[in-house]
Amino acid sequence: MLPFKLVYSDDYYLPIGSHVFPAEKYKRIHDRLLASGVAAPSDFVTPRPANDRDILLVHTPQYVEKLKTGTLSAREELELEVPYSPELVRAFWLAAGGSILAADNALHDGTAISIGGGFHHAFPDHGEGFCLIHDVAIAIRRMQHDGKIRTAMTVDCDVHQGNGTAAIFARMRTARKPLPSVPPSTLTPSSTASKEMRGAHAGDVFTISLHQKNNYPAWKPPSSIDIDLPDGTGDDDYLAWLDNALSSGLRQLDPELLCYIAGADPYREDQLGGLSLTIDGLKKRDQLIFRVARARNIPVMVTLAGGYARDVEDTVTIHCNTVIAAKEVFAAKG
Ligand SMILES: [Zn+2]
Repeated sequence: MLPFKLVYSDDYYLPIGSHVFPAEKYKRIHDRLLASGVAAPSDFVTPRPANDRDILLVHTPQYVEKLKTGTLSAREELELEVPYSPELVRAFWLAAGGSILAADNALHDGTAISIGGGFHHAFPDHGEGFCLIHDVAIAIRRMQHDGKIRTAMTVDCDVHQGNGTAAIFARMRTARKPLPSVPPSTLTPSSTASKEMRGAHAGDVFTISLHQKNNYPAWKPPSSIDIDLPDGTGDDDYLAWLDNALSSGLRQLDPELLCYIAGADPYREDQLGGLSLTIDGLKKRDQLIFRVARARNIPVMVTLAGGYARDVEDTVTIHCNTVIAAKEVFAAKG
């Protein structure tokens, strides 16, 4: 039995037809975790859809109304890049409920993983990039609304910048704080790469995004920390920058909840990504985040976000490895 819960429903499936987003990945991950003995049926908990009040903690009433009544404009539908349907809206409401349940469980157990979610491209008033609503932001706002947390940190390792996350929590920005100009020498990636590190403090929710610079979204609203990685970044440089960003972020805020957006698309075989991480490197990424959080007693909720490997089995492996990494770190004694 796992020392934490996995949040999952067969209804996480996104009814989007034949699409680069492999909507069947959620069930495949669930089935693989059971078949491989990583998880038992009792490790899974089933979410309920978020209620509209939860959605409205993040999204505008006008946008929620359009989603619920099917009255998006043609341009708004196009921007989603997935075909609108009432069934799709229901799947997103369920994903948001799953993230709320994962946040709640993480606060009790130290961590929890939703085998779904991570829709970090949704803004308060519109959706884009396969994301209708921002399940992670909704979970954070719900936990704050219920008085369970005051502060949170998002650590977004999807290959695409978390533009929705940055925009949603930018409203709370209070002051700009420069990052240390000299990172710890042992963590300094090779100086040949033209990486950039931008910094700004974001009040009650601190947002970190590591992503490929030359990729969607074209407009990247500033996160608290953005790591703009050049094309082809590999395991070692990536892990050094992640370590650096976590250290910098945790020097600025000691959050009561860490929301890890564990995108599988920094993988070198990804169709929508241009980084060069290996499956092993991605698991080391997961381990690093879980180790840092555990060492500091920060609860971690995990969502999966993107993953578009040429072979969907690779995407499933990368996501399953996130569960295995959490098991290794959180089951270990001491
Ligand atoms: Zn992505």
